[in-house]
Amino acid sequence: MRNAAQLMLTDSIKGKTAAVTGSTSGIGLAVAEALASAGCNVALSGLGDAAANEALRARLERDHGVKVTLNSGDLSKTAEVKAYIEDATAVFGGIDILVNNAGVQFVSPVDEFPDDKWDLIIALNLSSAFHAIKAALPGMKERGWGRIVNIASAHGLVASPFKSAYVTAKHGIIGLTKTVALECAESGITCTAICPAYVNTPLVAGQIRDQAKVHNMSEEQVVREVILAAQPNKRFVEPDEIAATVLFLCSPAGASITGVPVSLDGGWTAR
Ligand code: NAD
Repeated sequence: MRNAAQLMLTDSIKGKTAAVTGSTSGIGLAVAEALASAGCNVALSGLGDAAANEALRARLERDHGVKVTLNSGDLSKTAEVKAYIEDATAVFGGIDILVNNAGVQFVSPVDEFPDDKWDLIIALNLSSAFHAIKAALPGMKERGWGRIVNIASAHGLVASPFKSAYVTAKHGIIGLTKTVALECAESGITCTAICPAYVNTPLVAGQIRDQAKVHNMSEEQVVREVILAAQPNKRFVEPDEIAATVLFLCSPAGASITGVPVSLDGGWTAR
């Protein structure tokens, strides 16, 4: 029988394989690095500068002594999500930990919301998680162990104006989380949704710039009076807080945490 401190150790995930979508930046990168530092091989994914992403892949391998692959597919496309999971499975023999993190944001009143932005956000922020889970789950079931962590948002639990597609996708991913958790409850596989409030990443930096223009405010004013207005603790969540939560959920202590949102929101949704 292990004691409480032992249950929180991540030794047990050493040598496992983690796929983290959207892991070349922000939250996904912090999660991928934390899993690599715990000894997991990692399948990175992300768009952007190919040379910078390759340098990141090589650095993670060097710093953590694990194998790291890089996929530059557009995960808003079903076939590219399937290819990402299939390629990683071929290299590593299976995916043990799947973190569905890739996501984008677009802000507009619902009656002006561009159709293509709606379609992109639903495809990337919601459907890509379904396709990745569907492709990774059979191997997890065979091995009798798996951790699926969906990076949702406080916007999976509450809404804000002008974010119809994002709020819809994030509420949807919580429904997907609950369903997968129930279907896998006896298979040693958990499925959870992390719900952070604002995290200062490139995704939010873009929102700060846009809101400053819309409200004719300085970026500092936007952070204080708009972005963090609903967040009682008045500070951004750190990417490493989310990464540490993923490690906790993957440790033996996380074995019974399934089908639930795990909030890191400084009290936002307590209101
Ligand atoms: P980010 O912009 O820093 O990183 C996004 C990652 O997704 C990058 O690696 C990017 O290359 C990748 N990506 C974007 N479009 C892609 C596509 N079509 N195909 C494949 N990869 C793609 O964003 P972030 O702030 O780290 O957000 C990560 C996740 O966390 C998102 O799902 C977001 O909704 C969620 N989240 C963010 C915040 C926040 O305040 N930043 C809060 C709550 C939840």
